[in-house]
Amino acid sequence: MTEQAPPAGTPDLAPQDAGASPGSAAGDAEVGAARSGVPGGETADVIVVGAGPAGSAVAYYLATTGLDVLMLEKTHFPREKVCGDGLTPRAVKALTAMGVSTPENDGWLRNRGLRIIGGGGRIELDWPELSSYPGYGLVRPRADFDQILARHAQKAGARLLEGTAVTGPIVDDRSGRITGVTTKTGRKFHGRLVVAADGNSSRLSVAMGLHKREDRPLGVAVRTYYSSPRHDDNYLEAWLDLWDGASLLPGYGWIFGMGDGTSNVGVGLLNTSSGFGEIDYRELLRRWLATMPSEWGFTEENRTQPIRGAALPMAFNRTPHYTRGLMLVGDAGGLVNPFNGEGIAYALESGELAARVITQALARTTAASGERVLQSYPRQLKDAYGGYYTLGRIFVELIGKPSFMKFATKHGIKRPAVMRFSMKLLGNLTETRGGDAVDRLLNAVSKMTPAA
Ligand SMILES: Cc1cc2nc3c(=O)[nH]c(=O)nc-3n(C[C@H](O)[C@H](O)[C@H](O)COP(=O)(O)OP(=O)(O)OC[C@H]3O[C@@H](n4cnc5c(N)ncnc54)[C@H](O)[C@@H]3O)c2cc1C
Repeated sequence: MTEQAPPAGTPDLAPQDAGASPGSAAGDAEVGAARSGVPGGETADVIVVGAGPAGSAVAYYLATTGLDVLMLEKTHFPREKVCGDGLTPRAVKALTAMGVSTPENDGWLRNRGLRIIGGGGRIELDWPELSSYPGYGLVRPRADFDQILARHAQKAGARLLEGTAVTGPIVDDRSGRITGVTTKTGRKFHGRLVVAADGNSSRLSVAMGLHKREDRPLGVAVRTYYSSPRHDDNYLEAWLDLWDGASLLPGYGWIFGMGDGTSNVGVGLLNTSSGFGEIDYRELLRRWLATMPSEWGFTEENRTQPIRGAALPMAFNRTPHYTRGLMLVGDAGGLVNPFNGEGIAYALESGELAARVITQALARTTAASGERVLQSYPRQLKDAYGGYYTLGRIFVELIGKPSFMKFATKHGIKRPAVMRFSMKLLGNLTETRGGDAVDRLLNAVSKMTPAA
């Protein structure tokens, strides 16, 4: 098969520096293994902006293939990230695939499933027993979870510059293609490819003209920590009764025991409710907590952290996921699951997928051939999640109607079979092949639903 000529302005993706070992960027706080050989130390095969779960996953997988990867992270580890700190079996599987060990005697708290409270009922559902996913989830504070992942990527050979805020792309005038990035201190880094792993706001994507889509769901969540006797709960707990006057809101409150004397407690809502944008989330959290038994300790005196919030970009709310040398992973690509607000598993999975695509692209011998591979990334993401996310968008529209939310909560909670089905659907936890009738039904519906 003959290779097509590259389109005008397509830079050469083939190795420009074959045989050279990666170099060490001078200055800033470089923590990665020092290397030498790249001119000026300011280039790499791949520049990854952001070292959250998505950035560390893509860097880890790229480094294992021998590519020179440079992660640029604006903060210093360990650092806080506003999150519920909950990891479902899907996230545990992704961690295991990366070789991150999660022993219970090293700060990883295991959980057996989900406890759901709402509509006057309460049910405990164990995670499903599947060959595709482990039967347990985990809790780990993001304050050190993200550091563990970043160090794991470094051990595999990725370089990391902490305290390095990226301010914008370097764009080739002729092709409009990103060829590198600039930082707050005026440094320039060049790469054959750039990955946006800079989270929900993804300023890098915005600077490349990729804005959030208004037609996709968005969540907002706030959380804090309390000293609590419930700190070692072995179920993740979700409360569906979040009221705004007489309206039942589309979202849930959570209580996740951290195993360290505290519980992570928060509320998250979807933008499909009519009052979205006007709701005082901190007040909603306080009102909800006021209904809890006092012995659980969710009081102001026991609060150990400020109440902080952030957005959850859902269901591909930034596209395309690849354009002009820039690849989007995790929250930058709006990959949070609209059914349950889970984002870490999708950050890790998209990081792995992106790395596999990039590795193949950079091994091609012509730019046009490499470009064709890179352009398959959005399609592969759609194949993986597109149908499921379309269903999720229908789901968030439905639960945005208080009457539907009330009906579903009241009638669903009392029916264990419905709740087990819901758990598989909401958690995206089905056997990838075969499985029981529920797995086959959910997989078939997801496949048949168009990825839009
Ligand atoms: C309140 C709340 C609770 C949540 N609870 C859960 C939960 O329990 N379980 C779950 O699975 N998901 C949860 N999520 C979602 C989850 O936090 C995200 O989906 C996940 O963090 C996405 O990972 P990421 O690597 O894509 O982005 P991020 O984790 O946001 O990482 C982005 C990184 O990029 C860095 N960065 C940003 N801009 C720049 C720049 N200009 N230059 C250099 N570096 C930059 C940031 O410092 C950060 O380290 C929650 C979200 C919120 C808001």
